[in-house]
Amino acid sequence: MTYQNNREFAKQCDAQDSLAHFRDEFLFPKDKNGNPFVYLCGNSLGLQPKRTQSYIEQELKDWAAHGVEGHTDATHPWLPYHEFLTENMAKLVGAKPSEVVVMNTLTTNLHLLMVSFYQPTQTRYKIVIESDAFPSDKYAVESQLRFHGFDPEDGLILWKPREGEELCRFEDLEAIMETQGGEIALLMIGSTNYYSGQHFPLKKITELGHSHGCMVGFDLAHGAGNIEPHLHETGADFAVWCSYKYINSGPGSLGGLFVHERHAHNPQLKRFAGWWGHNKKTRFNMRHDFDVLPGAEGWQLSNPPILSMAAIRASLEVFAEAGLKNLRAKSIKLTGYLEFLMDELNDPRINIITPRNPDERGAQLSIQVISANKQLHDQLTEAGVISDWREPDVIRVAPTPLYNSFEDVYEFVQRLKSILH
Ligand SMILES: *Cc1c(COP(=O)(O)O)cnc(C)c1O
Repeated sequence: MTYQNNREFAKQCDAQDSLAHFRDEFLFPKDKNGNPFVYLCGNSLGLQPKRTQSYIEQELKDWAAHGVEGHTDATHPWLPYHEFLTENMAKLVGAKPSEVVVMNTLTTNLHLLMVSFYQPTQTRYKIVIESDAFPSDKYAVESQLRFHGFDPEDGLILWKPREGEELCRFEDLEAIMETQGGEIALLMIGSTNYYSGQHFPLKKITELGHSHGCMVGFDLAHGAGNIEPHLHETGADFAVWCSYKYINSGPGSLGGLFVHERHAHNPQLKRFAGWWGHNKKTRFNMRHDFDVLPGAEGWQLSNPPILSMAAIRASLEVFAEAGLKNLRAKSIKLTGYLEFLMDELNDPRINIITPRNPDERGAQLSIQVISANKQLHDQLTEAGVISDWREPDVIRVAPTPLYNSFEDVYEFVQRLKSILH
């Protein structure tokens, strides 16, 4: 696509965008002048779909009207409520419905799945993560190592960018596997790195890990609702993600998890159990021994918070209406436009860390502004732009195809330019 550096061009792209009307499905926070912010922070907290309020209110009304009977008599009965989310969530990550369930939050699910998929022995116990993984992921894997009696100094292997580089190279992961593969129990990689925006080749990583006898899991916090992860096809053993970033389901909303169908019927797999993972037919007989549900549902512990699920149901419907394929196609153009306009600034202080190849990134560009500090971010906010600052000198901006326009991207670059001058 050939881009042009002028507002007319941005407006023309918006006029031709068949997804443009989805912007009206969302609520935009307003700046100090009462104008909607240029909101480029869907990678941190997605905006609220307008329909979310009524979906939550429905559950409050049903609770008022039915009390405990709402479990079976609510408009959307609470007992099977998570099932109303499964199909649309599975589509978002490219999985079969039986491989996906919505429950708990991301870090909790990561621990629960490591109970099953990180079962170290004295000789095979190491875990590989990408360096600069999200802190919570690092804390989680380190604590799992300690829990099993290993020292993270020895047991945690970081897949790092080379000296002077920002991105991880696949061949360096291959080298780690060549030298230490036999000692590695688990590869746990963020599908799309939160800091650099680099998206990793999930299928290649899975094949590499499996060829060395390792389990492979992904954290899709920055992938779900952003790229097309084709989880089933990757063959990964498990994955986790949250729903409040690109999936627009509200602050702290529940996460999702994936367990590949090859593990669906394996009763030997260790797990931490709770009653929501038990056979639905006998769950309320209360006196039965644990009879685990097949597939991802078998990892559930508790009866879930319906109000949070109502928000997820609302937001997944918006995705289903737009279609992930269409969204991804628009996202590639939109982020490409951002990259083009940033290059046009021709400012030697600016360095885009995120890969140039659209297959190796999602919506986000991580823009390093050499010698800048957080003041730049504050000035952007003052100028009506919501972006995200990461120390020491990186602004993360993520135009999301559901609610951002080409004109948003144009506006952002104009405002950044006037601040930099
Ligand atoms: C956002 C994010 C988290 C947050 O974890 P919660 O358990 O939802 O608080 C974890 N890991 C990654 C990679 C993230 O981007």
